[in-house]
Amino acid sequence: MTAYPHLFSPLAIGSCTIKNRIVSSGHDTVMVDDGRITDQLIAYHAARAQGGVGLIVAQVAGVHESAHYTAHVLMAIDDSCIDGYQRLASAVHEHGTKIFGQLFHPGREVMESQDGSSPVALAPSAVPNERFHVMPRALRANEIDEIIEGYAQAASRLQRAGLDGVEIVASHGYLPSQFLNPSVNLRIDEYGGSPENRLRFLERILRVVRQRVGTEFVVGMRISIDEHDPHGLDAEIALDACAQLSERGLLDYLSITTGTSAALSGSDHIAPDMAFDNGYTAPLSHRVKEMVSVPVLVAGRINQPQEAERILAEGQADACIMTRALICDPELPRLAATGQDEDIRACIGCNQACIGHFHAGYPISCIQHPETGREIRYGQRVRASTSRHIIVVGGGPAGMKAAAVAAERGHQVTLHEATAHLGGQILLAQTLPGREEFGGAAMNLHREVVRAGVRIVTRSVVDLELLADANADAVVVATGATPYRPTLELMGAPVVLDAWQVLRGEAMPGGHVVVVDWRGDWIGIGVARTLAERGHRVTLCVNGYSAGASLQQYVRDTQLTALARQRITVVPLVRLFGADSDTAYLQHVLTEEPILIEGISGVVLSCGHESESALLNGLLDLGVPALGVGDCMAPRTVEEAVLEGLVVGSAV
Ligand code: SF4
Repeated sequence: MTAYPHLFSPLAIGSCTIKNRIVSSGHDTVMVDDGRITDQLIAYHAARAQGGVGLIVAQVAGVHESAHYTAHVLMAIDDSCIDGYQRLASAVHEHGTKIFGQLFHPGREVMESQDGSSPVALAPSAVPNERFHVMPRALRANEIDEIIEGYAQAASRLQRAGLDGVEIVASHGYLPSQFLNPSVNLRIDEYGGSPENRLRFLERILRVVRQRVGTEFVVGMRISIDEHDPHGLDAEIALDACAQLSERGLLDYLSITTGTSAALSGSDHIAPDMAFDNGYTAPLSHRVKEMVSVPVLVAGRINQPQEAERILAEGQADACIMTRALICDPELPRLAATGQDEDIRACIGCNQACIGHFHAGYPISCIQHPETGREIRYGQRVRASTSRHIIVVGGGPAGMKAAAVAAERGHQVTLHEATAHLGGQILLAQTLPGREEFGGAAMNLHREVVRAGVRIVTRSVVDLELLADANADAVVVATGATPYRPTLELMGAPVVLDAWQVLRGEAMPGGHVVVVDWRGDWIGIGVARTLAERGHRVTLCVNGYSAGASLQQYVRDTQLTALARQRITVVPLVRLFGADSDTAYLQHVLTEEPILIEGISGVVLSCGHESESALLNGLLDLGVPALGVGDCMAPRTVEEAVLEGLVVGSAV
């Protein structure tokens, strides 16, 4: 008897039945080569199918030459796409999982160029996009006909390739949404001017697709019910479109999401970060369910089976989209179905390696599960030919991952941690405002270590003598890093703390504090917010163009929102060169002019870290073939630490 009876019951969607109600929605992967499906993309989805997901909706595929919205979008504009889709469908079907494909036109939402030059963007009307600063050209009538026909031809290709259905992407401010939206669609022809005319583009797409694929092939639609943008598609218009298209028998299902690509605030809902509540969109899908008779899927930070079960049990949706949860743990469905919930590696909504990689143009992965996107190389643990004794020094993310992977491969592994707890810098990071859920990464890695049978020794400071006595076959050093303090001109006795000291509770004198942020990541912003919460007036001085410059955009947006709401002053493009007891001395990084901030009570440095590499260097000097992982090699982030743990744990 499963703890999740709703989640693990089958669901009929049109002519197709999915075996459970866990769905991976369409999401860009950057595992595409020249618009075609790659072996890596097939391996990626096959891993999720093997883990038991009920339905995979493959990422957007352009239906017309003008649909190239990134340099790595999948395309379905000619028959050359069929072979890749065939191989993908067959790899997914092998595990009893159904697969649909998304059909897509971005309209004015052109994110990037193909070759560095700006393409021509097409939209219902010449209304600019705020986020990407694109001014489109209004579509001509014959171009609209061509694009509609493109949807029909692409649907037919995916049907011939053996997929189970297609999903028309009318969500997130893309072309069908632009036609529906009176703020964007200013046309006065048959496609604009009235609600019925604005619905016509979408209705025609659905009609020609249905005519082309028949009734035995699923046709659904994805739509945002609230685009969270003053100029976005109104929720009531979106709800009305769902009701009308469903009533006209044009849909087999609806996939409900929220947000838009067109504006910064709206785009944050495309992959909501940890600032958003789990399942926060379920009330929207509930409203849709009350208006339609077809199955309704919902997305919105549903990262655990308990949350999905609740949404289904309350009748707020018929299936739950758990895309990042599956990026983070492809085995989630199998673990939930077999009562192994404790072993699920829950997504923490950090956005760093999934959508963060996509925005940077790299194949998606996960900071907690770097095997994602690397399934061909690291999808299976290769058993070690001989079981060896491995010592791992340092219980941060790099050490934990290296230890777990090496033990899973059959080695006898001992993990030494100098403090009382495993987790390393994650334990500090989770104390930053809005970052509490980040601590889940340490919990999940700890669980992997325990499950793999690693011997854990805490409060154990390892030195060369201990290692010589231990006589290990291999030593992995993961000793991390400590705060970096730049050389500063300090006059008198100014109070200068580093970020770690503040997070560990060391008090600053009351009053105005200057936080100096070199890296533009979570720490400077988080420390500034912490100090503001403690009652300080705070000025955040950043080295780059804005605070959080190195964070993924949606994460940065929620943090910049918090900074604005907490009235924290941000000074961009400055470096610190000194301080006295009541003044911080800075310099503009472009003009090199001095900038003085007077009347301060202290300075907090968030200037990155330096490697703790003494043990590693000592071992190497002795000719011991020690392997370094994570920050002790060079200070970076949890993502690199866990990845290097995987690489070394797989090789040792
Ligand atoms: Fe979730 Fe972060 Fe992994 Fe993305 S990188 S899947 S947000 S844990």
